[in-house]
Amino acid sequence: MESENYVEHFRQSRENILNRLVDAIHKLEEVPAFHASVAYDIRLIASLFKLNVQGNGRRAAQREGSDVPSCFQRRCNLITSALLEQAALLEPRACLVDQCCQALYYIRLQVGRLTVEGHSNVDSYVELMESMVDSRISEIQTRRCLADEDSEALLGRIEMSFRMMNREQPGCSCNQCRKRRVAAAPEESILVCP
Ligand SMILES: [Zn+2]
Repeated sequence: MESENYVEHFRQSRENILNRLVDAIHKLEEVPAFHASVAYDIRLIASLFKLNVQGNGRRAAQREGSDVPSCFQRRCNLITSALLEQAALLEPRACLVDQCCQALYYIRLQVGRLTVEGHSNVDSYVELMESMVDSRISEIQTRRCLADEDSEALLGRIEMSFRMMNREQPGCSCNQCRKRRVAAAPEESILVCP
C-alpha cells in the first residue's frame, strides 16, 4: 500500500463492499428463491469487509497523525455482526426477503458512513450517507406499525440494530459521534406499538 494513498485505498475497499451489498440486494429482490446463495454472498462480504475495510482502517490508525476515529473498530464489529446475523436468518429463510433487503440497505448506509478522516468533512460520499441515515432514523421514529405482529417484531429488530450501529461511541471525538452527542435528547424516542 502506497503510504500517501491510504485514504484512497480505504475508500476503494469501502466502495467494493457497497457494490457487493447492492448486488446482494438486487439478487434477493429479483429471485427470492436464491436466499441460500445470497446468504453465502453475505458471509463472503463480511469476510472481505473485515479484511479490507476494517484492515485498511486499522493500518491507517497506526500511522503518525492518523485521523481514524476511535469508534471505527467498534463500528466495524457491529456491521460484521449485523451481516452475519442476516446471513444466518436468510439461509433457512427464517426471515422475510423484504425485511432482509431492508436490513442490508441499512447496513449499506452504515458502511457508507465509515471514514478514516474523523475530524474533517472532505469525504462528500460520507456526508451524503450521514444525511441518508438521519432521514431513515426520522422515518423509523414516525412510521406506522405493521398490522402483522411477527412482521412488526422482525422489522423492529432490524431497526433497533440500525439504531445501535448509528449511536455515538463513548469517548470518541469524531465529527459523527460529536454530532450525535449534541443531538441526543435525554429520552430517545422509541416507536412503541400497542
Ligand atoms: Zn466516533
